[in-house]
Amino acid sequence: MKGKLIIISSPSGGGKGTLIKEVRAIMPELGYSVSHTTRPQRFGEEDGREYFFVDRHEFQKRIDDGEFLEFANVHGNLYGTSLAESQKVFESGRDLIVEVDVQGAIQIMERLPDESVTIFILPPSYDVLRARLTSRGTEGRTELNTRLRNAFDEVQQYSGFDYVIVNEDVFTASRQISAIIMAERQCRDRQMEGIQVILDSFDAAKHHVDEE
Ligand code: 5GP
Repeated sequence: MKGKLIIISSPSGGGKGTLIKEVRAIMPELGYSVSHTTRPQRFGEEDGREYFFVDRHEFQKRIDDGEFLEFANVHGNLYGTSLAESQKVFESGRDLIVEVDVQGAIQIMERLPDESVTIFILPPSYDVLRARLTSRGTEGRTELNTRLRNAFDEVQQYSGFDYVIVNEDVFTASRQISAIIMAERQCRDRQMEGIQVILDSFDAAKHHVDEE
């Protein structure tokens, strides 16, 4: 049985990185795929942990070799999810959580509609998004403004997602995401093998009851 691709999207500063960290702490069995990006490495980031940092030439080569499940130009840099890494996880039956921008989410939904569960993270308001982006201090003024400008279009994309979480606080929002993942595991179609074993045990026991 295949796992599900849990796709988390939001505008930049929506808090999805922090939320995913918390969800993975609550559900350590979740798979996670580290993306590739051409964006410069930030202070405190480690190659292979937050991202695999590559130059444009290498990224383009990986596109040409069909190595990405999806890729997109986000705020002027390229980001992509590895096809091999993600397939390995969810074909083993584990759920895989992926963080992508809205363009990447749309590509995965189109490519793997039956395997995708899409969750959109909304900040509680524009002011909160702006405050979060400003206070984390990871972007210069120009980059910050690009991200804020793009957020106006990005928030409108909520309508294509299965679930929407308003990220008032990390504790609540991360538990809401975990609840969605748990609920998805209880879908009838995902449990057919286990259900069949239970029904077989009833079949096998039936004649005993008739004899009693
Ligand atoms: P940041 O530069 O702040 O780490 O990420 C910028 C944006 O790129 C965020 O919206 C983030 O979710 C998105 N992103 C991160 N990894 C991927 C990926 O593999 N594919 C796509 N399409 N977007 C990604």
